[in-house]
Amino acid sequence: MKTRGSRAAFRRALRSIPGGVNSPVRAFRAVGGDPLFVRRASGAWLEDLDGNRYLDFVGSWGPLILGHAHPAIVAAVTAAARRGTTFGAPTPGETDLAELIKSAIPSIKLLRLVSSGTEACMSALRLARAFTKRAGVIKFDGCYHGHADPFLVKAGSGAATFGTPTSPGVEADHTLVLPYNDPETFIRAMKKSWRKMAAVIVEPVAGNMGVVPPLMGFLETLREETRRHGTLLIFDEVITGFRVAWGGAQTVIGIEPDLTTLGKIIGGGLPLAAYGGRRDVMSLLAPGGPVYQAGTLSGNPLAVAAGLAQLRKLEADPGIYRRLDRLGADLEQGFKSSGVTVNRVGSMMTAFFTSGPVTDWKSASRCDTAAYGRYFRRMLASGIYLPPSQFEAMFVSAAHSGRDIDRAARVALQARSGLR
Ligand code: PMP
Repeated sequence: MKTRGSRAAFRRALRSIPGGVNSPVRAFRAVGGDPLFVRRASGAWLEDLDGNRYLDFVGSWGPLILGHAHPAIVAAVTAAARRGTTFGAPTPGETDLAELIKSAIPSIKLLRLVSSGTEACMSALRLARAFTKRAGVIKFDGCYHGHADPFLVKAGSGAATFGTPTSPGVEADHTLVLPYNDPETFIRAMKKSWRKMAAVIVEPVAGNMGVVPPLMGFLETLREETRRHGTLLIFDEVITGFRVAWGGAQTVIGIEPDLTTLGKIIGGGLPLAAYGGRRDVMSLLAPGGPVYQAGTLSGNPLAVAAGLAQLRKLEADPGIYRRLDRLGADLEQGFKSSGVTVNRVGSMMTAFFTSGPVTDWKSASRCDTAAYGRYFRRMLASGIYLPPSQFEAMFVSAAHSGRDIDRAARVALQARSGLR
């Protein structure tokens, strides 16, 4: 495997960009080695500066459910760019996208488009605080909701990867962190503190400590208790929205949150995210209400065009989630036969290097991350690009073929047996 091009690009980046990357996990520090620099990608394949090709199971961390450079998305973005890249004035495409999202997720009566999942979660909390006139927020250990201060506590994802679960510089006095999948602890905490609690925010299927599905009764308890105490329930569906099903995790589980945050897939690979939910809550937003939130590039026409193109493709193909699930199941079998613990929901999956079940951050953190790093590097050398951290989800896209999955499973088995 040639690496000269990527290494030179990384050295150059290090002179101008902290750590050489614009988002920490990209730097490969958790798995060792230098990051690959990408030249181009198409479908399920990624090519680096040295011409190496990789079967991609990162999918830009979730957005690319149709694979890279899908022709419909490229065409939509190109056409939109010709009409102008940004206006700072409304366009009908924004309403098209809002209507499509509402039709998929019935708990969303009104929504606002923003540019990142961080912004969506931060704004949803501001709104919850204004609505309830309380300041507190409950989050769960190992869940990530972007890098706004109140959420950057025991935050899974890159923060967990680098052993800095709570970043210096963060003020999070109003945040209470509880264990995921533990309804009893949650009930006790609410009994004591509900008067302070504006919101409970949760990933309905956790994806940032690796994939951890909710155990029966956990999300149900969050819904009952928040309703009883006038605290708003926020489902962070930045990963799961349009990933685990057309209507997100909430339609599969059958629980309606008060607010939902979305990102990744709804932007088709461009910077776009959203938050929405109850009409009475969302109506508090400026300009109709007093809660301020704004963005120069919010509802950007290129991002909206990409998101619309991707969602319309998903909507037009009712069998797509079943197909993705089948591909995911085959990949799961392949990894399982290599002797790791696999958690999977549809097309999102993690192979944990631990022998026990993984149901929360405590069990996830027992993983042998050094072994994962060796495994990652072997897979990479064999042309399979996995997330460069044990605590991230891998994603299957509709661009993966059965043959691609077989190939990944075969390499996974070889990589694992080489480690034992
Ligand atoms: N919430 C969840 C569940 C996420 O996985 C992420 C990003 N991985 C975010 C929020 C933040 O999104 P962004 O990176 O777009 O700010």
